[in-house]
Amino acid sequence: MHLNSRCVRDPEYKAANPAHQIPIVAASSFVFDSIEQGLDIFDGKTEGHVYGRFGNPTIDAAAQKIADMEAHGTGIPAYGLFTSSGMSAIATTLLACVPAGQKVLCQQDLYGGTTNLIQLLENRGIGMVNANLLDFNVARLVAEQKRNAIAAIYLETPVNPTLQVIDLEKMQLLARELNALLIVDNTFATSLVQQPLSYGADIVVHSTTKYLNGHGTGVAGAIVCKDLSLYEEKLVPAYRLVGGSGNPWDAWLVLNGLKTLPLRMERHSQNAQTVAEWLAAHPAVTTVNYPGLADHPQIELVERQMKLSGGMLSFELKGGKVAAMEFMNRLNFCTLTPTLGDVDTLVLYPAGMSHRGVEPEVRRTHGITDGLIRLSVGIEAVEDILADLEQALRN
Ligand SMILES: *Cc1c(COP(=O)(O)O)cnc(C)c1O
Repeated sequence: MHLNSRCVRDPEYKAANPAHQIPIVAASSFVFDSIEQGLDIFDGKTEGHVYGRFGNPTIDAAAQKIADMEAHGTGIPAYGLFTSSGMSAIATTLLACVPAGQKVLCQQDLYGGTTNLIQLLENRGIGMVNANLLDFNVARLVAEQKRNAIAAIYLETPVNPTLQVIDLEKMQLLARELNALLIVDNTFATSLVQQPLSYGADIVVHSTTKYLNGHGTGVAGAIVCKDLSLYEEKLVPAYRLVGGSGNPWDAWLVLNGLKTLPLRMERHSQNAQTVAEWLAAHPAVTTVNYPGLADHPQIELVERQMKLSGGMLSFELKGGKVAAMEFMNRLNFCTLTPTLGDVDTLVLYPAGMSHRGVEPEVRRTHGITDGLIRLSVGIEAVEDILADLEQALRN
């Protein structure tokens, strides 16, 4: 072999025994022993990998693990895909499952990117029908006017940033009535808090950027589907052709993050409960939205549907927008940053950040006032979080 060839060729890599942790497989394609084996893998007759955009040992491990977690204990098999972002998971799912001329029934206060994506798809014949999914009868009435045109109900619960809760069981009933798919974005809750598949959801999507990664170190997403033929015939082809597969590095970070997710979600919930109760008792605070508070407007549903109350809350100050601005500028332990689900406590201003694209009128009807502040409560010692809130609320 020439030196030039020696540079080009890797030494033979054979593992006598497996690595204890799933390695980052950074390769764009996979080698076949023979043309017959290659053709069998292409045909799906033999297990194996073909080409990086179709899958890879690291990203498939992350996808399968997230699917297993969503399906855990439900007796339902689930199949996963690991994507380059939460938006890529949502775009792939909608392109795969909603034919032109059909519509998606959803709440008006979805994650801003999702609303804007569906608006973009409207130019391609996929429409959006907004309804208040908190009210089953209203949602059904709206849906019935569009009967036969609704291919999917798409929802997020708890709702961002007001932490209202949508009844998954009822939405499942409506989806069956409409012969539509039920798609749930489980980013806010994670499978440790609720498992939408067990309430009849057909597909769960995630932005793993948030709690699943948990450390703010990468953008990625996932799709989980319980119907093998929907997965194989619709989702997998769309995933491969849209080119939204995630990369092995991000998958590896998510695999790492998932190991501590149960511990983190427990602590996020515990700390958020303490912070919510503390805020509710503070004279400068008018409202606290948190599923763990006894006065949450849907407390019965919360108790039925959610195993933990989660780490997200929002609240309003007496002084409105001016007070909110001053409060956020005075914080120094909590971090002002537009994401959620990291280990540290994060603060976001919905009216001017996540929901800036939403009409002010719509924002107001959904309780997203100019004084509303959202907290993603971290896993630090809760005393440090409270001390920072206290000093920022003083004067
Ligand atoms: C962040 C987020 C998304 C989008 O995910 P990306 O990873 O940023 O693409 C979708 N849904 C919800 C609820 C989110 O919080």
